[in-house]
Parts: sequence; structure tokens; C-alpha cells
Amino acid sequence: MNKKALTIENNDKTYIANTYKRFDICIEKGEGAKLYDYDGKEYIDFSSGIGTLSFGVKDNEWINAVTNQINLIQHTSNLYYNEPQTKLAKLLCEKTGMKKVFFSNSGAESNECAIKTARKYSYDKYGEGRYEIICLENSFHGRTIATLSATGQDVFHQYFMPFVDGFKFAKANDNKSVDDLISNKTCAIMLETIQGEAGVNDLNEDFIKHIDELCKKHDLVFIVDEVQTGNGRTGYFYSYMQYGVTPDVVTTAKGIAGGLPMGAILFSDKVEHTLGYGEHGSTFGGNPVCAAAAYSIISRIDDNLLAHVKEMGAIIRERLTGVKHVKKITGKGLIVGIQFDDAVTNLDICKKAMDNGVICLTAKKNLRLLPPLSITKEELNLGLDRLIKTIEEA
Ligand SMILES: *Cc1c(COP(=O)(O)O)cnc(C)c1O
Repeated sequence: MNKKALTIENNDKTYIANTYKRFDICIEKGEGAKLYDYDGKEYIDFSSGIGTLSFGVKDNEWINAVTNQINLIQHTSNLYYNEPQTKLAKLLCEKTGMKKVFFSNSGAESNECAIKTARKYSYDKYGEGRYEIICLENSFHGRTIATLSATGQDVFHQYFMPFVDGFKFAKANDNKSVDDLISNKTCAIMLETIQGEAGVNDLNEDFIKHIDELCKKHDLVFIVDEVQTGNGRTGYFYSYMQYGVTPDVVTTAKGIAGGLPMGAILFSDKVEHTLGYGEHGSTFGGNPVCAAAAYSIISRIDDNLLAHVKEMGAIIRERLTGVKHVKKITGKGLIVGIQFDDAVTNLDICKKAMDNGVICLTAKKNLRLLPPLSITKEELNLGLDRLIKTIEEA
């Protein structure tokens, strides 16, 4: 590491709360899916800021959208109407058929809003006591107390007790396990169609359709957490769309605004009026700069881009299949999970891959790839050359 990077690392360790176990690299700049550290070393980016840099870095359309808005006004507050928010909300509704949008600043906040919506819907219609939300084991819904309560992983249920009451956990891809948890207290079912943080675990189409039917049969609020899978990541605008199901609440964040903090909660006609005046709010939610950034991202997620995502995803799967140590490849489009045999560990491969010039992510015991949606074939193949070499030498 050069002197500047070392100073940054030292100041980080001295002044920043110790909640992140950082990798030993410091990125200075980049272009597209190529990143450069302070030594000028090049990396192919298979992480895109954990799925946020949908069109990579130094994306001119995004830069223009953001700077144009900053030059007009950087913030107004939610007490007044603002154009970027309305343009974005209209676009999201047109692309999904959903009826209304609430803007937040993160994935966790989006899920908080979804939880409030589900409970309020049920309260309005059925009165008190119908508040339970069925989530899945190995889910991840965020770091706030309520979204941690909704997260089906024991490691997240330590220290911060008491957690929020009213969350039950069913087994993914096990219809009966969900059926068994439904009672007259249930108000909602919440899931990710692919469990990203849990290691990129795919849910079956049959299971997702079953949940959709259950929600309709029992008048439950069907919440789909598209924070990681949304905004084109799977090769579909939102991942649920490929299954022909109709959720009542869709939550998203990560890739929606190209790296600026932004979350969105989409409401179907069933719950579009559930949250009324004063019942939810956010100081920064839908900030004009973030909304303009998101509009520039969302308006470019068209059929061409989705076809590109599918094509790039197919190349990854084709090239990794049969590679030494690779046991199984999961996910869809440009969310990819790689399971290894016991001879290697994901963390070791992730670190060595960085040495070899490709930045990946881990998720539980697997390697996880979330390249920018706009990654070119050349960038992708160069990154895969480096990754495959790393795995084979591990
Ligand atoms: C990342 C993630 C979250 C949390 O998002 P934050 O923006 O970190 O609050 C919630 N749900 C899923 C599925 C995620 O991948």
C-alpha cells in the first residue's frame, strides 16, 4: 500500500467505529466496471458497491442527472411537491403496475415501512391482534431492530434484546412449513425471491406462487423484499415479475439510485391508502438529487439492458461450470452465488481474487458476484479469467 492509502487506513482504524471488517484495499477511482486503488492497480468490479452501482462508476448519464439537479436545488423537504420524486414514482408505477410509492433512504427503512403497512392494513380491517408476519429462515431484511426481528438468522438475534414481537420463521421452499404458521394472528408474509445475504439461495417458483395464493386466500399482505434482487439485477425489472405473482408491497433500495442512498416502497391497490397523513415520513426520503439519480437508473432498465443482464449472467455460469472446487452456482442474471467444495474457503478465494485484480463478495459460505448491470463482455471475461485462475490455484 502506498503512503496515502496507509494514512487512510490508519485514520479509519482510529476514528471510524469498528463495525466493518474491511478488506485491505482502498479504491480511489474508476470507470465502468474497472476500479483503481491508490497504487493505480486495476480491479474488475464484481461487487458494484454491494449491488448499488447499477451502471458502474463514472456513468455520464447519472453524473449529468445528479449535477443538473444539484445545480437547481439539492433538497426541499417533503412538505412541498418536487418534480424528481413525482417523475420517479410515476415511472416505477408504470413499470410495475403498482399504484403508489413511498421513498425512504435504505433497504432497512423500506422494510420498516412495509412492516408498518402490513400491520396497519390488518388493523384497519380486522382490529387488534392480527399482527404476525411470517418470514423465512435465512432471510435478511436489515439492521434496524424491527428488520433484524424479521431476519431469520440467529446470529442477528443477539445483544440487542428485546426484539420486536410478532415474527415467525418458516422454511424456504417448504409450502407446508408456511401453511403451519398461518393463524388468525397472521397479517403478512415477507420474502426475498433470492436470499442474497444468506448465500444467494434461490426460492422455487412453485413456493413463491404458493405464498402468493396463500396471501390472497387469507387476505395477507404479500411483501417482496427486492432490495438486492430488484432494479434489473436478475434480468427482470423486479425479480417477482418472472413468476407471475402480484405482491402487495415491494421494497427496494441498493441498485435503485446508482450508489446514492435511496429506497422505495411500492404499494398495490390493496394497500395504496393504508398509510395516511402523519402515519409515516422521512426527512430525506425522496431527496431530489437521489430521486433524479434513481430516475436516470430506472429509465435505462429496458428490455435491451435486461437481455444484456441475462446474457452476461449466462456467460458467468457457463465459464464457472466445471471449474475445479466449484460445486454449485446459484442466483439469476447478475446475482450469482458460487458454492465450493471443502478444500477451499470463500474468504480465502475472495482475498486472493483481489490480489489478482477482481473484486468479489462473500455471502455466508459462498462467493457472491454482483457486477454492474452494464458490465461489458470484455470486462466480464477479463474478471472471469482472473477469478477462475484464482479458484483453480486455491
Ligand atoms: C441489503 C439488504 C437490506 C438492507 O439494506 P440497507 O440499505 O443496508 O438497509 C435489506 N434486504 C435485503 C434483501 C438486502 O439485500
